[in-house]
Amino acid sequence: MPASFLSLRHHRLDPAANVSGAPTGLRAGAVSAIAPVPAPAASDPGMDPDEAAARRHLHDLLVGVARPELRSLRATGSATAPPDLRRQRIEPSELTKTTVVVFEQVRGALPVFGSHALVELDENRGLVSASAELCGSSQPATLPTLGVERARERLARHLEIAPDRLAGVAPPSLCYFDAGAVAGLRLAWHFEDVPAAPVATRKELEDRQQDGHDLGPSPRQRRFSFDYLVDSEDGNVLYHYSRAPLAFPGELPTRCSGMDDDGSPQQFNGHFAGERYVLWDPHSNLRTFDLAGGDLDGPLPTSPATSPGDEWPAEARAAISAHVNAGRVYDFCRVVLKRDGIDGKGMTVESVVNCTSLADRSPDEWHNAVWFQNRMWYGRAKDGDRYRSYARYLDVVAHELTHGITEHTSNLVYRDQSGALNESFSDIFGVLICNYWLAPARDDVSTWSWDIGPGLGKNGKPLRDMSDPARLGYPVHMREYVRMVRDEGGVHYYSSIHNKAAYNVLTATDDTSKRVFSPEEVAVLYYLTLGRLDRMATFEKALAVLLNVTKTYYGNAAKRERNTTAIARAYADVGIVVRG
Ligand SMILES: [Zn+2]
Repeated sequence: MPASFLSLRHHRLDPAANVSGAPTGLRAGAVSAIAPVPAPAASDPGMDPDEAAARRHLHDLLVGVARPELRSLRATGSATAPPDLRRQRIEPSELTKTTVVVFEQVRGALPVFGSHALVELDENRGLVSASAELCGSSQPATLPTLGVERARERLARHLEIAPDRLAGVAPPSLCYFDAGAVAGLRLAWHFEDVPAAPVATRKELEDRQQDGHDLGPSPRQRRFSFDYLVDSEDGNVLYHYSRAPLAFPGELPTRCSGMDDDGSPQQFNGHFAGERYVLWDPHSNLRTFDLAGGDLDGPLPTSPATSPGDEWPAEARAAISAHVNAGRVYDFCRVVLKRDGIDGKGMTVESVVNCTSLADRSPDEWHNAVWFQNRMWYGRAKDGDRYRSYARYLDVVAHELTHGITEHTSNLVYRDQSGALNESFSDIFGVLICNYWLAPARDDVSTWSWDIGPGLGKNGKPLRDMSDPARLGYPVHMREYVRMVRDEGGVHYYSSIHNKAAYNVLTATDDTSKRVFSPEEVAVLYYLTLGRLDRMATFEKALAVLLNVTKTYYGNAAKRERNTTAIARAYADVGIVVRG
């Protein structure tokens, strides 16, 4: 952030607001500590009440800032203060029960590059936290001296490339850029997604190749994507940055496409490494290998699957299914559960397809898919004149990867009731994740499929059915629970009792026949529960923890009461109750 920006940090649990870039900081007492900051009394008619509250809180925080130019950002006596901020988004956070309102700073109608103000509100629109990076005002140009074409020429000259290399770049937009205390705010042309790297970056790549650190081809063959800010008065390049999530050379994801094992066209992230494209997504940390019919116990290929072009050939379809489905699980974890991958720390997930096992009924097949030693292993089955991979079942993929999450959280012991819970959580997330991506309407459970491994059971039936376990011969009530020895104490058998309870939760309705929970709420509640269970947890313990999590999660007393009642009822239906 440029030095002339003001940084503001505030949380109501902290003793005082922190502010940098302002000589005297916030006025003492401007921010109340510990006690919640109440919601503003009035709001402007017509404005979203969250936005109005966020603006008022920012106003109160900025009132003590010593820099007069920043005080001009606010206007007294109005809920719309401070005025020079444009709302970008309002995001309710289900995990924290707060709402985040994000603004960018504008001058006139033009954004100030890199500016940002974020206000977090509680359910009563009281202030939970705030942070801001704001720029003081100077008197910048309001009209560009250089037109778009002149700016484009200047950019090409700066990059030492022919101007026609930039012919396909979209027309730039105008913004303000803070060029420091002396130069002040500059009016700049913002060129986006430019397929050329700065000279220094290209030089660095060449040096790395000569050092033997990088096996890539000529850097000019690489697919660069950079943004540039060009001064609209003198044509100098003020700023640039790579648009790729991983900016260091050699690890950029590359968009690829190809058919999956169901014959559906897919787009996915690979990586361009020299002459070939590799099934490695450096963004989500996914690598997919093709054992090409090799035995499970044999050596792993040294490289993930490769393709000569970014359009992958038909032989790669099993690998593409595994890669795409692992990506869907990763994205669900990130978006819904706010979890970074299987271990919560962005670990690399490796998938291996086309595994065979000499021990299976036919040596060039293997009818299974397992999470084992931090890898996904997928078998294949003959289907006419070709093989079909187990990687094409998203519910199976999600089930197996959830075993990985369990391993890194509660690590439920894989036998008896804790083992059945281990299996059940995998089935629950298998169904949640599969329907999140594939159901006709992800928010409406009446459109969902509850089968696990459709077609993989006996006589073409599914392996299990969450909505009606008895249909496939599984128990649905605790009165059917008898200790057993086989199947690690019935982990794949008694799991169906807890599955049915979870199905009851997902489909629970209130007195007005409305659904009590959204599927994403259920996902979060079970995820929070999974993280709080002890290794030897029983079904009863799972219910007790789920109820506790629900009480914490819903701040609103009426909701809390309604939701815990619905869960208790869903579990009582299968004979699971909390005693004493
Ligand atoms: Zn399992």
